[in-house]
Amino acid sequence: MSLTAGVLAVQGDVSEHATAIKRAGQANGQDVTVHEIRTAGIVPECDLLLLPGGESTAISRLVHREGIAEEIIDHADAGKPLLATCAGLILVSRDSGDERVQTLDILDVTVERNAFGRQKESFEAPLSVSGLNEPFPAVFIRAPAIDAVGDDVEILAEWDGQAVAARADNIVATAFHPELLDDSRIHDLAFFE
Ligand code: GLN
Repeated sequence: MSLTAGVLAVQGDVSEHATAIKRAGQANGQDVTVHEIRTAGIVPECDLLLLPGGESTAISRLVHREGIAEEIIDHADAGKPLLATCAGLILVSRDSGDERVQTLDILDVTVERNAFGRQKESFEAPLSVSGLNEPFPAVFIRAPAIDAVGDDVEILAEWDGQAVAARADNIVATAFHPELLDDSRIHDLAFFE
C-alpha cells in the first residue's frame, strides 16, 4: 500500500516530520511518499497532511500569501487526516489570541502561545495520552497550550493543568513535537488507527 503525505514546508521543522511519517508508515505496512508544500496545488494530491512547528506568525502569513490556506481547509473539510504540532496547532485553532496569527479555524480550540513560560522554554515530560498504554516522552519547545475546546473536541493529554493535545474527527493536534522521537504512537493515532 502507498500513501502520499504532505508536510507544510513554508517554515519550521520539516525534515523531521518527513522522516517521522515515513517511519510511521513503514511500521504500518505503508510506503509513504512525502511532498514538501511551499506552493499551492500540492495539498490536493495528498492523502494526509502534517503541519509542523516553527513560528506561527510566519507560517500563517505564508500559507495565506501562497494560497495554501484554503487547500488545507478543504483537506480538513473532506475528512482527510491531519496532524498539527506546536505552531501547527496554533495554525489550525479557532483563535490564537494574537492578531498576527491568522488561524485556519479547522479545530474548534483556542490556544495561548508560549504558555509554559520563559524559564521553561524547552522541556520533556512523560505525558499520559488517551489511547496510549505507556506515557509518551513529549518534547515541548516554546509550546502553546489549549485554553478552550468546542463540544466536538476531545482533550487527549494535559500537562501542568493545561490541555496539550486534542482531537476532533480527522484532526489531531499536539502542543509538543512527536516528530523528534523514534516513537510513532502519535502518528499512529492520527493516521493509522
Ligand atoms: N512559539 C512558537 C509560536 O508561537 C511555536 C513554537 C514551536 O512550534 N516549536 O509560533
